[in-house]
Amino acid sequence: MIYIHVPFCERKCNYCAFNSKRGDEAEKNSYVKALIEEINLRGDNSKVETIYFGGGTPATLTLNQLEKILCAVNKNFFVEAQAEITIEANPGTVLSIRNEELGIRNYYGAKSIPHSSFLIPNCSYLRGLKVLGFNRLSLGVQSFDDALLKILGRIHDSRTAIETIALAKNFFVNVSLDLMYGLPNQTLNHLRRDLELVKNLDVRHVSIYGLEIEEGTKFFELARAGKLNLPDENTCADMYDLITETLPAFGFNRYEISNFAVKNFESRHNIGYWTGKKYFGFGAGAHSFDGKQRTSNVRDVATYIKKNFSIVEEVVTPQAAMEEFCFLGLRMTEGISARTFEKNFGKNIFDVFGGVIDKNRRLGLLEVDGDKIFFTARGMSLGNEVFADFLL
Ligand code: SF4
Repeated sequence: MIYIHVPFCERKCNYCAFNSKRGDEAEKNSYVKALIEEINLRGDNSKVETIYFGGGTPATLTLNQLEKILCAVNKNFFVEAQAEITIEANPGTVLSIRNEELGIRNYYGAKSIPHSSFLIPNCSYLRGLKVLGFNRLSLGVQSFDDALLKILGRIHDSRTAIETIALAKNFFVNVSLDLMYGLPNQTLNHLRRDLELVKNLDVRHVSIYGLEIEEGTKFFELARAGKLNLPDENTCADMYDLITETLPAFGFNRYEISNFAVKNFESRHNIGYWTGKKYFGFGAGAHSFDGKQRTSNVRDVATYIKKNFSIVEEVVTPQAAMEEFCFLGLRMTEGISARTFEKNFGKNIFDVFGGVIDKNRRLGLLEVDGDKIFFTARGMSLGNEVFADFLL
């Protein structure tokens, strides 16, 4: 598995604490050069089943820049013919909005034309992604409500999102959407409307994120000043229930706490994380895991561009590995396998976590069926409390 971090966005969203920033063409070119050098340095010709371009907004790179990165990956790894290759994109970047104020350029690098908010469907870019080998498009829609999108500081509106999805469906079968809940001013009705729209958009995968207010964001300052009208805890719980009831009714199976997919369209890359597979992470702040040791790259983009590839190492102790196996695996509806636990760690899971498993079974949060240990529906919504129990 390979993760490639692209830290550039057109504009910083008001809630965003990811490693992302605005970048000009020169900075993007230097970053791509550094990325290629890192891939050349660390590539080991191993087999790759999934590649994930995340960010930031990887679709702010030109096709030419993406092609160079993919060439480096192909040169240094054995990418399987059936590999899942995902790119994250935003509706506002895929459908080019030529807007002087935002300074957005189109794919060809042409300067913005003087009319603001002029939408041009950018088929060439989507077609180009497909030609490069991307076969999964993950779109950061977040909401279909224009007022909420504005509060979030997103660069797109609802119409752009719907048009982008329709356009993307011409090139990609596997389109995924990100939606958010627990937003300022958001009501259950807003969310209901979002979910109804999803039903008719012919996408194959939906990821759901509850808003978290993180330090260093605009929302953090507004919340501290009491200027953010956030839904209360009960409303957020109702929103979560609405999502988990509605999406399966529309044909999206819930295969993980926050992820829903049409059968056979589950994210292979994310399942790899939850099942403890090895992965390479390239780019500023990217993490890697070789089965024993976790490492992370320097987070600062300017430092990374100077080809500072020194990594921070974190040895995963056997105890931490067992804990992780449980709380990552339990995120998935199919849960964890006692046999796999024994194969990986040479111990019986009930000898190590028997007390925790029994306690949560009694509380109706966990179930055991043969080899499998998994969450009940109630356990899924109280996941964090159960995960805490698994920390030895
Ligand atoms: S598009 Fe995503 S990564 Fe970029 S600023 Fe917004 S939330 Fe952050």
